Amino acid sequence: MDLEARAEELASDLGVDKAEVVADLQTLLEYDVPVSEAIQSLRRKYGGTGSTASVPTASSIESLSADQPGVSLVGTVLTRGRRTIVYDGDEQMIIEGTIGDETGRVAYTAWEDLEFSVGETISIQNAGVREWDGEPQLNLGDTTTISTAEESLDVPFEIGGDRTLDSLQTGDRGITVAVSVLECEQRTIDGRDGETTILSGVIGDETKRLPFTDWEAHTALIESGASVELIDCHVREHRGVPAVNVGEHTTVRQLDQAVSVTEAVPELEIGDAIDAGGAFDIAVVGTVIDVRDGSGLIQRCPECSRVIQNGQCRSHGSVSGEDDLRIKAVIDDGTGTLMGICDRELTESVYGDTLESAREAARDAMDRSVVTSSIMEAIVGRQYRLRGSLQIDEYGAMLTVDSFDRVTTAPSEIAETALAEVSQ
Ligand SMILES: [Zn+2]
Repeated sequence: MDLEARAEELASDLGVDKAEVVADLQTLLEYDVPVSEAIQSLRRKYGGTGSTASVPTASSIESLSADQPGVSLVGTVLTRGRRTIVYDGDEQMIIEGTIGDETGRVAYTAWEDLEFSVGETISIQNAGVREWDGEPQLNLGDTTTISTAEESLDVPFEIGGDRTLDSLQTGDRGITVAVSVLECEQRTIDGRDGETTILSGVIGDETKRLPFTDWEAHTALIESGASVELIDCHVREHRGVPAVNVGEHTTVRQLDQAVSVTEAVPELEIGDAIDAGGAFDIAVVGTVIDVRDGSGLIQRCPECSRVIQNGQCRSHGSVSGEDDLRIKAVIDDGTGTLMGICDRELTESVYGDTLESAREAARDAMDRSVVTSSIMEAIVGRQYRLRGSLQIDEYGAMLTVDSFDRVTTAPSEIAETALAEVSQ
């Protein structure tokens, strides 16, 4: 609703001249008084008692929808974190987190360092709502007012940012995790301020393993084998899975006691893993139904490592290719199919011989495809347990395989399972 319309409604409510109301409203807004407060102030001035149609009533979080103007609600701050973003070319610190009431919780972004703390129940007036990742998100801007609520709410959500890795979701902010660093790699990227060193790898706790990125490269604290507490991080999607992001407002604290990491790998049905949009470090059990082109003895461009055909790289033209081994296996478990990609080491173990032997076999036969044929003979029609990370893109579902183990179920066991199913 624009100012004119609000003024007209208010004027007719109060039975006063519209021009007068517009002038008063404009004056108040020039002093940065939020619209909802300005309207209330004018109601007091003109002594309006009748209709309360335009007084904003508190919304429940459950009922929020994107592009609702001037929302008011009462909620308890569940988490609160800081992050620096680039807005209109300038760096700006924002406060982010989640707030909850009895009906639900919602993420918020505050553009000023508003003074509220985790666990406090606050009354928010005139907040914006926008959609982010398909969910409504509260925008606390400079026309929003926030005050401590008269009564504190009893909300059915955990208050505070302490989490386990299995509870993290993309978009979570202001969270704290205690983890063990399992893998850590240092990389140089082209950041907004030129070349920047970052760390990335895998962290784990008693519930799960997840990827992480440390944009500030805390090399003295975050290294393979270290146990650390990461205070005030946020969660972003990375290749279809939640990844813990350590930023400039994150405090990294070394832990005296090692954090133990679960040994269990969640085993999923392929259909469920695909529906989830990707998964980090899972296992699937299925049958190899095909081995795709680009498997076996392949050649890669020495410049960019892309797989090349007939000595031609798409980016680098005619190059002298380097031999490599790879398997692209189509796996089916009855609920869905995915493509499992095995690197050279895994392919050597499946092929049962080294890259050098594969090269010899191809030379003897004067045909590189003999390697693919041997691999197909070994695996097509057999059942395997694959462990790895699943990524979904326009080319389909791809599992980067970390382990590829034959599942041998005794024929008697298969018969028993079939019987049990029949008798149910
Ligand atoms: Zn190339």
